[in-house]
Amino acid sequence: MKKFLIVVAGGLTALVLVMVARTAMMGGGSETAVTRASFAVYDGDAIAARLGAAIRLQTVSKSLEATPDAQAFAGIAQFLSEAYPAAHAVMEREVVGDYSLVYKWPGTDSGADSGANAQKPIGFIAHLDVVPVETGTEDEWTRPPFSGAVYDGSVWGRGALDNKGQVIALMEAAERLAGEGFAPARDIYFLFGHDEELGGGNGAGKIISHLKDRGVSLAWTIDEGSGLAQGIVPGIEKPVALISTAEKGSVTLRFTARGQGGHSSTPAPDTAVSILARAVLAVTDNPYPLKLDGNVVAFLHALAGEMPFSRRLIMANLWLTGPLVKNQLKADALTAASLHTTTAPTIIRGGEKSNILPQQAVAIVNYRIHPRDNVEAVRERAVRLIDDDRVTVEIAGGREPSPQSSASGEGYRAIAATTMAIFGDVVLAPALTLQGTDSRHYADIADDNYRFTPFVYTPDDLQRIHGTDERVKIENLSRAAAWYEALMRRVAGAAP
Ligand SMILES: [Zn+2]
Repeated sequence: MKKFLIVVAGGLTALVLVMVARTAMMGGGSETAVTRASFAVYDGDAIAARLGAAIRLQTVSKSLEATPDAQAFAGIAQFLSEAYPAAHAVMEREVVGDYSLVYKWPGTDSGADSGANAQKPIGFIAHLDVVPVETGTEDEWTRPPFSGAVYDGSVWGRGALDNKGQVIALMEAAERLAGEGFAPARDIYFLFGHDEELGGGNGAGKIISHLKDRGVSLAWTIDEGSGLAQGIVPGIEKPVALISTAEKGSVTLRFTARGQGGHSSTPAPDTAVSILARAVLAVTDNPYPLKLDGNVVAFLHALAGEMPFSRRLIMANLWLTGPLVKNQLKADALTAASLHTTTAPTIIRGGEKSNILPQQAVAIVNYRIHPRDNVEAVRERAVRLIDDDRVTVEIAGGREPSPQSSASGEGYRAIAATTMAIFGDVVLAPALTLQGTDSRHYADIADDNYRFTPFVYTPDDLQRIHGTDERVKIENLSRAAAWYEALMRRVAGAAP
């Protein structure tokens, strides 16, 4: 017995040593020496005024059935060419899909004679359209939703964050670079879709056909879909730069339950309603398991460097502490969503009269698919869990998750290095975008697709996107312009 105890104690000592060693290897709070580039050279007030003008052009995506407001989209194209003359003098622009804009800034080394040495182009993706303002909420805005008002250090209005702020910051960077005579070594594209909020089929979809027709293949693209989070990740004060390397897919399943009709005074043991209720519970009671893998592990390791030793000990030893960490992450809907395919019943309908047995009842369940799953597998799993042939399960629209882009490739490294240079002391980590962006269309013609807007987002910003009082801090705009400038210099500057 005593011998056994000694063995156990020895085992525990070894375990503790391994855990401490792993934690030490991970390192403590990073004291990275960084030179922060100056972004004061950008005139924030002037950028704010130009973003305000862009917001006043109401490029609203109402629905797939509605015709886009041709005047508003022509207006924003016209506005950009007037506001950014130097950029427009060096970039070629084409209108694609009636309203989307494709800019090409030809590289000096991209001609036919540079042959195999030419680097593939880079694509900067953004979108010109905005979501509508919900009817009846207009008066709740501190400044009217399409005023583009500059107030309290911010530009206010629909599209300020999503996504005209990004369009403007990109154009500001191009204008400055063009004005200084900068000529990129490789081709740079600005790809501004006009229907991202409706799925991007007519904008990004047609831009890609257009580029394919011209034989364009991109090294990598950068788009909205993530950014720097401040006060969003619990326990971390510094901004966390989440560079997204993939986005979730989505599928909507329609469950249809069938039962015997008739009078409610003589019911069978089950009606269509009770059959359907059990089907819905079968999927919600069996959620997809949460997994700590890939990006999530890299994310936790990056955060661990900022944590006190006790928590670092936990993060460094996920092989042991994984279940504990998963339980903590599960408590927050946002982090939980990054760890698995989510299941959300959103609509349920059945029956018309209190004394008539319904013959049919329908439920709609929306899934957001983690890159490790796929549309058909989600349907099959639902059928298996429901296990009732009185219920049919159909796919009512969906899209696969995006491929996983490299977290060590040229694009990722350039985005990370530029972020350190402009923002200084931040925590960097790869991430997963939970919503859809135009980027998923580009997987076809680009080796890697990243989603990262160089804005610092606070928790209330997240509610303002697609909500009331959308606004962007002027500081975010001028810093983003400097960031895009620095990134373009880094990846398309002349060879030394
Ligand atoms: Zn957007």
